[in-house]
Amino acid sequence: MFLFRISFFLPLALLAETTLATIGYPTALSLQNGPQTFIQPTIAGTVESGMWGNVREYGRRFHKGIDIRSAQKDRRGEPTDPVLSILDGTVMYVNKVSGRSSYGCYVVVQHDLDMPLFTTYAHMSHIDVVEGQKVVKGQSLGIMGRNSLGRLFPKDRAHVHFETGLQLSNSNFQAWYNKTYKRTNPNFHGLWNGLNFIAWNPLAFYAALNQGVSLSDFIKNLPTDLVVRIRTQTVPAFVTRYPKLLKAPLPAKVEGWEIEFTWFGLPKAWTPMTIAPAQRRSFVPSPSLRATHQDLLYLSNNNPKLFLEKVLYLCGL
Ligand SMILES: [Zn+2]
Repeated sequence: MFLFRISFFLPLALLAETTLATIGYPTALSLQNGPQTFIQPTIAGTVESGMWGNVREYGRRFHKGIDIRSAQKDRRGEPTDPVLSILDGTVMYVNKVSGRSSYGCYVVVQHDLDMPLFTTYAHMSHIDVVEGQKVVKGQSLGIMGRNSLGRLFPKDRAHVHFETGLQLSNSNFQAWYNKTYKRTNPNFHGLWNGLNFIAWNPLAFYAALNQGVSLSDFIKNLPTDLVVRIRTQTVPAFVTRYPKLLKAPLPAKVEGWEIEFTWFGLPKAWTPMTIAPAQRRSFVPSPSLRATHQDLLYLSNNNPKLFLEKVLYLCGL
C-alpha cells in the first residue's frame, strides 16, 4: 500500500523533466521532429546528405556528424543562430583559424556523463568561449557560420556541423599523425584534431538518452560488426580512460584483448584475455556482420586493416 501510494503520487511532469531535459540541442531548432525540419543538405540537395553516416559521394565518404541549418539570418543573409552547448561541460579546444581545418572555426566540449562525452561544433563565424571555460547546458558557444579551410560556403548552406563521440588518444595522436602524413599538412590542433575522434549518430544518441539510457549503455548497445583479438600484455590507455567499456574486470595479468568494433570503427567493448591468443593480431568478422568490410573500406581509403590499426594505435596498443 505504501509503495502504491508513492507511485501514485509521483509527479509525471517531474519524471519527464529529469529524463527529457537532461540533454539540449546545439541550436534553437528541435531535433525531435523529422530531419527535413533541421537538416541542411549539401549541394546534392537531399536531406540524407546532411545526416550522419555514409551519406556523401554515393555512400563512399563518411560524414561524422549532422549538419543543422540556420533558422535566423541578418539583413545580409548571414546566419545569426547561437550555437549552444548540449550539456554542462568544459571547453577543451577552440580553433579560430578557419584555414587550419575542414571544420573551419570549431569548438570541442567535454561533458562528464557516466563516462566522458565529446561534442564538436564546426564552421562557426564567431566563438565566445575560451579553452578551459566551464559552460552550462544551453549556453551559447558563439554564432553559426559557413567557413571551412579558409573559404566560405554559400550563405544558403550555412550550418553547424555537430558531432557526438569519444576521443581516441590523449597522448600519442601526434606520433600517429607524423608517421601517417609525413611533412604534408601540419597538425594545428594537437589532440583535438577531428581524426582523433570517433563519432556516432547524434540522432540515435538523443533518442537513447531521452529514454534514460546512459552514455556507456548507449555505446554497449551499438551493434558489434567486427571482433579483433590481440596478443599483448599492455593495458591500453583508452581502457584506463573509459573503464566502462570493459566487459570483464581487469585481471592481475593481461595476455591479450578481444575488442569489439562497430561498423564505423568505434572500439565499443574490451574483454581482457588471460590466455594469449594464437596470433599476434586476428580480425574476426562477428556473426552480426552486415556491411562491415564495405563500410570500413569507405572509412579508410580502401584499407580497413590500416583504419583498425590506426584506432588500436591511438587507443594505446
Ligand atoms: Zn557536416
